[in-house]
Amino acid sequence: MARLVMKFGGTSVADLDRIRNVAQHVKREVDAGHEVAVVVSAMSGKTNELVGWCKEAAALHDAREYDAVVASGEQVTAGLLAIVLEGIGVNARSWQGWQLPITTSNAHGAARILSINGDELIKRFKERGEVAVIAGFQGVHKDTGRITTLGRGGSDTSAVAVAAAIQASRCDIYTDVDGVYTTDPRMVPRARRLPKIAYEEMLEFASLGAKVLQVRSVELGMVHNVRIFVRSSFDKPGDIDPHAEPPGTLICGEEEIVEQQVVTGIAFSKDEAQISLRRIADKPGVAAAIFGPLADASINVDMIVQNVSGDGQTTDLTFTVPAADYERAADVLAKARKAVGYERLDGATDVAKVSVIGVGMRSHAGVAARAFKALAERKINIRAITTSEIKFSLLIDAEYTELAVRTLHSLYELDKG
Ligand code: ADP
Ligand code: ASP
Ligand code: MG
Repeated sequence: MARLVMKFGGTSVADLDRIRNVAQHVKREVDAGHEVAVVVSAMSGKTNELVGWCKEAAALHDAREYDAVVASGEQVTAGLLAIVLEGIGVNARSWQGWQLPITTSNAHGAARILSINGDELIKRFKERGEVAVIAGFQGVHKDTGRITTLGRGGSDTSAVAVAAAIQASRCDIYTDVDGVYTTDPRMVPRARRLPKIAYEEMLEFASLGAKVLQVRSVELGMVHNVRIFVRSSFDKPGDIDPHAEPPGTLICGEEEIVEQQVVTGIAFSKDEAQISLRRIADKPGVAAAIFGPLADASINVDMIVQNVSGDGQTTDLTFTVPAADYERAADVLAKARKAVGYERLDGATDVAKVSVIGVGMRSHAGVAARAFKALAERKINIRAITTSEIKFSLLIDAEYTELAVRTLHSLYELDKG
């Protein structure tokens, strides 16, 4: 007997037929004798619709009310799944974040989980054999009692946090792909499924654009040593051999991966914007005058490149911000113009960041140099570069994203088994 968390994303619960399919997956594990907590997302498209309504109601709305609205999607799915489970003879009940409770910080719209009370769930597993169906993505702020949400994709984080709280032996993330691939299989059909990937690499994948897992879920998994297994919800529950290893990807410690490649995969993000400040005085304190106000406005700055201006006297500074924050960033910088003393602000939102990831890069030189050459041969211009121990990222024109990803995928022989 094992204790499992099973998480089902939006496409896996998109309609009642899919919810019935999910219920069969849950029944399969219950029949195998396992204790099960299920975490569900809102039905596919629902959260977008709810977010859209908030924006339509008022462009500048109260984040607490936004959370009250968008958390409702998961409430519906949790209730529906519990009803369907009861209907097929599986003892189940739904839980909303505030009922467990799942307490969080009060950063509405992007709250962090602080604690989860798993005792009641464990008691009910033991005493009633009851399946817990938990609404993902939501929690409650302890002091104010207000509903919070965890940021887009946050049900993954709910699932891993529940797994840690009930000491589950595994957290299965059921989604619309059967694992983590060398790159997004929707863009590159020749991408290959990775049997295992190290937490550190998965963190990079997630933070650099691969939306298969929310970044915080990987962070939590790493800290609490939760075994996260990404697998498909579209496999027919009846076809799954309970004694065989199902297809999927295990996120685990680096030491568990025997055959480590230099490059594990490629991630990309089109949600980037570039800002270049031209002809800034080259003197101490200027960087602080630029990045201080941006930080105060909670705008994340990513790639930063500084180079000498055309006049040889001043400097140009280029950096990226999330595309959604571009207007705000430009506004903050316009206000700081006097203090910074730049001549001109050039911006671009039609840019993309392509990143190459692999823990093997720690011990191999020249990995990035090969990429620069391959992209140059395709006439793809690189606007900015950042590197760290296990990844490097390139900022390019968005129209070349697919070409760049495919080029790098072949260059590092990721399409070969
Ligand atoms: P869910 O609704 O189940 O949470 P998501 O849409 O959030 O699912 O995440 C799954 C999607 O992530 C896939 O459909 C796929 O297009 C995308 N994805 C991006 N990069 C990768 C990758 N490297 N491996 C697998 N899927 C990826
Ligand atoms: N429903 C939320 C979203 O669409 C959370 C999730 O699906 O993980 O972002
Ligand atoms: Mg998701």
